[in-house]
Amino acid sequence: MKIIMLGAPGAGKGTQAKMIADKYGIPHVSTGDIFRANIKNGTELGKQAKEYMDKGLLVPDELTVKILLDRVAQDDCKNGYVLDGFPRTIPQAEVLDEALTKLGEKIDFAVNVDVPDENIVKRMSGRRACLKCGATYHIEHIPPKQEGICDTCGSELVLRDDDKPETVLNRLKVYHDQTQPLIDFYTAKGVLKTVDGTQDMKDVFNAIVAILG
Ligand code: ADP
Ligand code: AMP
Repeated sequence: MKIIMLGAPGAGKGTQAKMIADKYGIPHVSTGDIFRANIKNGTELGKQAKEYMDKGLLVPDELTVKILLDRVAQDDCKNGYVLDGFPRTIPQAEVLDEALTKLGEKIDFAVNVDVPDENIVKRMSGRRACLKCGATYHIEHIPPKQEGICDTCGSELVLRDDDKPETVLNRLKVYHDQTQPLIDFYTAKGVLKTVDGTQDMKDVFNAIVAILG
């Protein structure tokens, strides 16, 4: 099963993608996590991506598409995957579509996690991320067992640089301009499913499972 998560930054794509990956036994592929790992390891790709990410801008398609196509060509993606944060532009979606068509494959579901802008800034300022294992928490809604420490790997949790309110507003604008058109793109392909992302995370997940089967 090949699934794409759509939605504004902070809508809960990553939270749901991890739960989907666990339930269906497919890898969770997050381009944001791949960039953050590269930044942490000081790679050239990380240096280039950071310049855009810190400003709330999208990393250029030329850099993003290749890392995604390389990732989904790996063995563990043979039986499907859940993409979180990719595609974010129409050209990215077109490249993915062409690559899949060549293999005789297609996206089965594009799950749009719908959360109004008003809720987003609050969610993002409460998000805490583990840069080591990629786990995410929310200081009010989904707190870790011990404040500031990752339940999964014991590392320190941080407020991502790009989750500061001024950057979040920029990311929302970029989302509306460049990513929201993907809703029409996947509607036209007959695979778009929208869920109400303002519900409790378990209810969002139940709604997604009802769609995926
Ligand atoms: P995205 O991957 O779409 O950017 P995340 O999954 O990281 O978003 O979620 C953004 C923040 O909101 C995180 O702090 C997360 O813990 C929290 N969150 C996710 N889903 C819900 C929900 N249904 N209700 C409240 N908070 C949520
Ligand atoms: P995320 O973790 O998905 O919120 O992504 C964090 C940041 O990484 C985004 O704000 C972008 O700067 C960059 N990024 C992640 N995925 C993509 C993508 N598909 N295209 C362009 N930039 C991306």
